[in-house]
Amino acid sequence: MRWILLIVFLLIAIVPLMILAQGTFRSMNAYFVEEQGRELINQANVISGQLVSADYFSKDSDKKTVEATMLESSQSADYRVLVLDESCMVVYDTSYRDVGKTYLLPETLEALKGKDIVRAQDNGGIYAAASVMGEGNQVQGVVLISALADDVQSTLVAIEQQVLLIIFAIFITLIFTMFLISHLFTDPLKRIIEVIKKMSQGHLEQRVEIRDGMINTEITDLALACNNMADQLERVDTSRQEFVSNVSHELKTPLSSMKVLSESILLQEDAPKEMYLEFLQDINSEVNRMTDIINDLLTLVKLDQKEVPITFAETSVNQILTELHKRLLPLANAKNISLQLSLLKDVTAQIDSMKVSLALNNLVDNAIKYTPEGGAVQVTLDADHQNFFVTVTDNGIGIPEDEVGRIFDRFYRVDKTRDRQTGGTGLGLSITHSAVMIHNGSIKVNSKENEGTSILVRIPLRQA
Ligand code: ADP
Repeated sequence: MRWILLIVFLLIAIVPLMILAQGTFRSMNAYFVEEQGRELINQANVISGQLVSADYFSKDSDKKTVEATMLESSQSADYRVLVLDESCMVVYDTSYRDVGKTYLLPETLEALKGKDIVRAQDNGGIYAAASVMGEGNQVQGVVLISALADDVQSTLVAIEQQVLLIIFAIFITLIFTMFLISHLFTDPLKRIIEVIKKMSQGHLEQRVEIRDGMINTEITDLALACNNMADQLERVDTSRQEFVSNVSHELKTPLSSMKVLSESILLQEDAPKEMYLEFLQDINSEVNRMTDIINDLLTLVKLDQKEVPITFAETSVNQILTELHKRLLPLANAKNISLQLSLLKDVTAQIDSMKVSLALNNLVDNAIKYTPEGGAVQVTLDADHQNFFVTVTDNGIGIPEDEVGRIFDRFYRVDKTRDRQTGGTGLGLSITHSAVMIHNGSIKVNSKENEGTSILVRIPLRQA
């Protein structure tokens, strides 16, 4: 990640800077050349004027004076002056090298037509050519000044070196800043990865330390999300352990009773037949209890298995409740409890009928179980445009206020000794809860100790 950041930094910062510097150098070079050219052409025109006033091409009298002036100015300004006649032959050269040669240069030819010409040469030199106009605008010859652009070049090189030095300094500062920034980004990420690795090895107590220096909010959010996930995993792990220990405990109790019962018969010689019968009946009821627990556990496991397909189908909820009422009526009659069913609406919903039936069955079964003889249980079905509602109300023993929140926990029973007598496993409401959650519904409990309980189930009519 650090290297990616470095490359991105270079691309967006250094490269445009280099391009900009190159462009600036080029225009500065052009500017200097133009300036020098202007100066040279002025000089050529001054010389041309001197040649005209001395009548250089016709008279010999002032030649030496003019040539001395040209030599002096060429030496002081470090350039070479050549005077060409109208046939482009060099008649005077401050370096004396080319006198007598013909200079058929494009610059001289154009100057002969009366134009002032400045040309930069590829070798860094500059030519400036001005015509010498005699009387009647007659071109008599050309003054050609040749100068090296050395001064300009060396100034530019010096500036270029300085700019490169500045760019290098910026480059170093950028690398340093980039490492600092990437450190700020990657360090917390590394810590998060470290924690996740440890968690995957089973150390679920690991958490990412959230420091004040973690300015980047996304990374802080990631650390928080990682910690939340760790909390969740730890909770799942604890509840799994609790569940296993609860299951073991619940199965151990009937097994211990069976062991005590069978041992007492085995140890007693000549035990009467009635005693055998009585003990076997007790053992049988313990076996029934274990069977109930295992059946409930299997139902719960099936509900929890997300991969088991849920078959939502259009089902009449009225029919489910009518059948349920018919099924549980004998149980209510046995306790002299009135079991009333009010179907306020005709409801068909997209549900898994088996699971909804199971969920509601547990609620009505509990209402009958936890209502004393002669009590009343009321089951009501209602609906609006989106949901249907089933309320199961009883005037039974109720649930203590501080225990209401826990009744959906697996194996949770308000009064363990009493519930063992009623035959509860403590899994019924967990099954109801899972079944309702599968349907994206909700459950609300209203209960008052010694007054009664009302449980409201809401299930959407259609599943998204
Ligand atoms: P159980 O098999 O013991 O009935 P449940 O999960 O169905 O287990 O219920 C959990 C506990 O909630 C019960 O043991 C009981 O104490 C309490 N409970 C459930 N329904 C009622 C009710 N209608 N009235 C009073 N207490 C109830």
